[in-house]
Amino acid sequence: MPAYEILDDRFSAMVLPNAPIELLGENFRWLEGPVWFGDHDMLLFSDLPNNRVMRWSESGIAIHRAPADFPNGHARDRQGRLIECSHAARCLRRIECDGRITILADRFEGKRLNSPNDVVVKSDNSIWFSDPPYGINTDYEGGKGMSELQANLYRLDKNGTLDIAAADFEGPNGLCFSPDEKRLYVVESGVQFAAAANRSIRVFDIAPDGKTLAVGRTFHTIEPGMADGIRADEAGNIWSSAADGVHCIDPSGHLLGKILVPTTVANIAFGGRDLSRLFICAGQKLYAIYTNVRGARLL
Ligand code: MG
Repeated sequence: MPAYEILDDRFSAMVLPNAPIELLGENFRWLEGPVWFGDHDMLLFSDLPNNRVMRWSESGIAIHRAPADFPNGHARDRQGRLIECSHAARCLRRIECDGRITILADRFEGKRLNSPNDVVVKSDNSIWFSDPPYGINTDYEGGKGMSELQANLYRLDKNGTLDIAAADFEGPNGLCFSPDEKRLYVVESGVQFAAAANRSIRVFDIAPDGKTLAVGRTFHTIEPGMADGIRADEAGNIWSSAADGVHCIDPSGHLLGKILVPTTVANIAFGGRDLSRLFICAGQKLYAIYTNVRGARLL
């Protein structure tokens, strides 16, 4: 089976015809939350229903932290600390350099968050995250619980103030900024994950104040399956998880091509020395493939 599906000539220059999909690990339960640590040459990722954070490096795979309160999305902040979405703890939290855990947000206006799903850090130290109820719908993904808040997109200011960035979602999910941070892309995956009627990637222009979003519009709709985790490359193309692999979409919303993966993809992260290696969380397996693009870096 070819590793690529090229739908636009531009995609030919973005992939490497001699670079295979590599299987880095398997026999997990369901992978999510990949985040690259260049200073440690390692990838951390969530084995969500197994309630643990895993660590990959060229020397192998190990359990990084367990139990881990059913972790989902991850990011690093400007100081290099791990920012984590926790389903079971229903919070956004930070793992300090000494291993202590600091809750960054677990309530909005006195009501408990649902189950933070995915997170991204902006160059002004604000942290943006989605809060759909997927982690409290089942025990499998964290633990059944009552939803107290609608599924919002939040912005946590560097001073700790939590605000709703956008409230018109049924189920906000993966998110990423454009490389210039003038746009925010957010996946809408619907009320009931995997059975979503509404499953587009939306794009929001960010006002000059760096925090106010304009009304969102549909950027692209993934077929087959749906988008979950998304990442930008340094040219501003958006790479999205999909049922048949990873799709690459240009900034105007045009699908350029696909990296074909045998298992449904949930989330991805650019890593490696030049951020040109794409790590792919696909169900029970972790894959990677070298590309001819580089992931967007923090400004
Ligand atoms: Mg997600």
